[in-house]
Amino acid sequence: YGDASQKIDYVFKVVLIGDSAVGKSQMLARFARNEFSLDSKATIGVEFQTRTLVIDHKSVKAQIWDTAGQERYRAVTSAYYRGAVGAMLVYDITKRQTFDHIPCWLEELRSHADKNIVIILVGNKSDLEDQRAVPTEDAKEFAQTEGLFFLETSALQSTNVENAFMTVLTEIFNTVN
Ligand code: GDP
Ligand code: MG
Repeated sequence: YGDASQKIDYVFKVVLIGDSAVGKSQMLARFARNEFSLDSKATIGVEFQTRTLVIDHKSVKAQIWDTAGQERYRAVTSAYYRGAVGAMLVYDITKRQTFDHIPCWLEELRSHADKNIVIILVGNKSDLEDQRAVPTEDAKEFAQTEGLFFLETSALQSTNVENAFMTVLTEIFNTVN
């Protein structure tokens, strides 16, 4: 019990979406391996990483999918969304455009994914407060209107990354239990 051969009670697929360079891959690296790189290369090929954790005495394997540098409009294929029970919609708080594109990503997500998918809006790079271009209140209001969870994170400083993933995973867990 509790060793590597422990049985997995649930596998939850969660997809990361949002414009290029907002920090999706670094958020995943932080969550899956507690790593961060300042000069991360654009992701090549669809890939996912997993981390197994315990929620309410059950072992949950989080399978987190990262886009393959396919962030151009409509380039993310439906296979990417297939079977996803959670999604993180990421923008960069220092780049207004990445926030302005969120409604497009949300529409794409809603047209491809299951209607009960759990979604969190994430404003990443909160460590760059002096370069902020998206007020927290704007994002909070948008999230509320759309019925999304919302958090600001810093993959660099490891602020709220765990919290953001756990918010999604716990909500998924609660909906299947
Ligand atoms: P992706 O294209 O969305 O996967 O973005 P990446 O994860 O590749 O990150 C793009 C760039 O932003 C890289 O240079 C990262 O080091 C940097 N970056 C990612 N997260 C943060 C963060 O929280 N703070 C800061 N200052 N830089 C970050
Ligand atoms: Mg990437």
